[in-house]
Amino acid sequence: MIVVDNLYKYYGERRAVGPLSFSIDKGEVVGLLGLNGAGKTTALRVLACDLLPSAGSVRVDGIDVVDQPHEVRRCIGYLPDSPPLYGDMSVREFLVFVARLRGLSTKESILRATEAEKVTSLSEVALEPIYSLSHGYKQRVGIAQALVHRPKLLLLDEPILGLDPVQIVEMRNLLRSLRGDFTIVLSSHNLKEISETCDRLLVIRDGTISASGTEAELSENLLRGVRIACTVRGSRGRIKDAVGTVEGVTLQFETPEAEDTSSEDAQLHTLQVVADRDVRPDLVRALVAADIDVFALGQGGGELESVFLQLAGEGDVPATKPAAGTTAQTENEGTPGGASKASTEPDKADTDKADTDKEES
Ligand code: ATP
Repeated sequence: MIVVDNLYKYYGERRAVGPLSFSIDKGEVVGLLGLNGAGKTTALRVLACDLLPSAGSVRVDGIDVVDQPHEVRRCIGYLPDSPPLYGDMSVREFLVFVARLRGLSTKESILRATEAEKVTSLSEVALEPIYSLSHGYKQRVGIAQALVHRPKLLLLDEPILGLDPVQIVEMRNLLRSLRGDFTIVLSSHNLKEISETCDRLLVIRDGTISASGTEAELSENLLRGVRIACTVRGSRGRIKDAVGTVEGVTLQFETPEAEDTSSEDAQLHTLQVVADRDVRPDLVRALVAADIDVFALGQGGGELESVFLQLAGEGDVPATKPAAGTTAQTENEGTPGGASKASTEPDKADTDKADTDKEES
């Protein structure tokens, strides 16, 4: 259903995505998982023909997003990270409006709007103005507008973001109920939320895929070895030095670095230590010898989060364009989505111009 081959997307000098290659089969529910700034939204926007690729190729249902963007748009439904809703319209009016924009007749649009309301459990509020709905309901309207024209592919950018726990469960159920009728790609920065909904995860880090597979596969590959969770008191530097004296361990702080370092020695930290054996006795000896107070120590804990942090990294490292050895992209000026494909990294000027053309079209 989707084939992404060596995709790059630059914003000026900044590489937001690339090199990115993956494929998604018809009917799959796939999660793009990554920390803020990893490139999820950019990748989805390229798939949705909302942004031109700087290089590489993207095909949706066999159609190239650059060559035939209008054809591609017909077969996709897209929920951007900020759902495009008109608050003064009722849910029904809005869905009919979107269906009309999609080229359906008024009669057909009303039928499809009613159907979309049912699928997304919005029938009860169909005549309410959108502004009066809770955030969870507004997200559902966002999904309803994405599927009102019965697309083959749904692209949902952070559909779970900002929902309360009850709404999260409802959204998960909704997404599960869509399984089978659509191929779905959704993005999230929350492994737990996304792993329960998706068949497969693509972990994006710094614009490229750092791992893919089911949650179990990702865990199996990464969680080999013994994990030890500790709560200790002391400065990060002393803790690092102490843990570093134990052979063959890796250390991960789960508590954020304090801005005020004046009282560092009195700070409590939660750590994850990974080793190829049970190093608890060595660890305690090393910490105590370094005058670090040990409050708790046990095996395991935070596994999902640990997997995610290992795969996705801990920060959005700004990436810059490699200087040499690339082939510039050329362009079909004046056509909607009018850039031609290139198989290697792009030239910045071409990219900027392509986006300007896109906005104007
Ligand atoms: P988030 O979850 O925070 O939305 P993301 O994984 O969706 O993050 P993107 O929004 O795709 O990531 O951003 C990827 C990188 O591109 C980031 O470094 C971001 O600052 C940068 N970026 C995104 N949009 C633009 C833009 N319009 N102009 C310049 N840089 C941008």
